[in-house]
Amino acid sequence: MPSSTDSNSPVTWDVLIIGAGLAGLSAANDLQQAGLKVLVVDKGRGLGGRLAGRRIGDATFDHGAQFMTARDSRFKASVAEWIEAGVAEEWYSSYPGHPNGHPRYRGVPTMTAVAKYLATDMNVLRTTRVDSIRQGSVQDVGQDNQLWLAALDNGDTISAKALLITSPVPQTIDLLASGNIAVPADKQVRLDRIDYEACIAVMAVLDGPTAIPVPGATAFDEGPIGWISDNLQKGVSKIPAVTIHGSGDFSAEHYENDKMHSGQILIDAAAPYLGNAKVTEYQVHGWRYSKPTVVDSEACMLLSESTDLPPLALAGDAFAGPRFEGAVLSGWAAAKSLIAALS
Ligand SMILES: Cc1cc2nc3c(=O)[nH]c(=O)nc-3n(C[C@H](O)[C@H](O)[C@H](O)COP(=O)(O)OP(=O)(O)OC[C@H]3O[C@@H](n4cnc5c(N)ncnc54)[C@H](O)[C@@H]3O)c2cc1C
Repeated sequence: MPSSTDSNSPVTWDVLIIGAGLAGLSAANDLQQAGLKVLVVDKGRGLGGRLAGRRIGDATFDHGAQFMTARDSRFKASVAEWIEAGVAEEWYSSYPGHPNGHPRYRGVPTMTAVAKYLATDMNVLRTTRVDSIRQGSVQDVGQDNQLWLAALDNGDTISAKALLITSPVPQTIDLLASGNIAVPADKQVRLDRIDYEACIAVMAVLDGPTAIPVPGATAFDEGPIGWISDNLQKGVSKIPAVTIHGSGDFSAEHYENDKMHSGQILIDAAAPYLGNAKVTEYQVHGWRYSKPTVVDSEACMLLSESTDLPPLALAGDAFAGPRFEGAVLSGWAAAKSLIAALS
């Protein structure tokens, strides 16, 4: 994993991307394809952001995104490529009461497999947070070029000609504020409008099979649970293991409460779906920004447009649609904007 201080790395990257989620990694692929030198930095231990897998003993869980759907033709081609590469497969297209639905695809063995595939041959710094960003200049081949400077939590500073930020928008707004970056008023209004729901996710290991019907997942329109899935039926886990997602309302109400207590409430509510199985162990993860409830109308935002700022774009599922596919489409759109801005 190179940093800007490695001898093989450029002093100044063409593009620095904050976030190794779907938007960041999808953008990085297109930018590298265009011949640009790209560094991706993510504060997380794993790749994929809200694609997240976890192990508890022999149990394995998808505890972030559960599946992807595909509508856009380029995205469909990518899904076909992931299936060919063995990192995705169709999970189901019909479920009780809905016999002929569209396909839902899953990552293999877990959703994060797609992110790992996208990150092949990519410069990614993990467990590294960008604390602040600012405009600056670095003496580069005798010229003072306007650049982006990103201060990392390990004390290093990364410099880049262009910057793409893919964090959830409230975190992006904080990053922009850290460098006193002037956001045009109309764009600030659009950013402030974007909203997300929280999700409390329970990962529970069971001592026997669940009573969740084929295909091993159920979504709920009301009550404390939004979604429950059986990681054994799904093919993710070797032993019985369920993921329970609190609904938006439940998660908002309980987000600041003791996580294990909130998890126990969800486990109790899930009893009819657990059959005779007992929970032997469980963990709880809180997603503060799980899915956008209000999204922007554009596929990405080129913040530097009509300003003196070096190229700066924002992307993520808050722009091209509140899902896996939307995050990828947004990353691609941002890459296109930045390639144009850099040429
Ligand atoms: C519980 C849950 C269930 C979901 N279910 C589905 C589903 O079934 N189907 C579906 O299509 N979608 C689902 N989604 C939504 C889907 O996961 C997201 O739309 C998509 O993963 C968003 O990708 P992204 O790249 O926009 O953002 P993210 O995945 O959030 O990536 C942003 C990255 O930026 C990093 N970051 C943030 N700030 C910094 C910083 N300062 N420095 C360094 N790194 C930083 C983060 O660590 C993160 O990795 C679900 C999401 C959740 C949470």
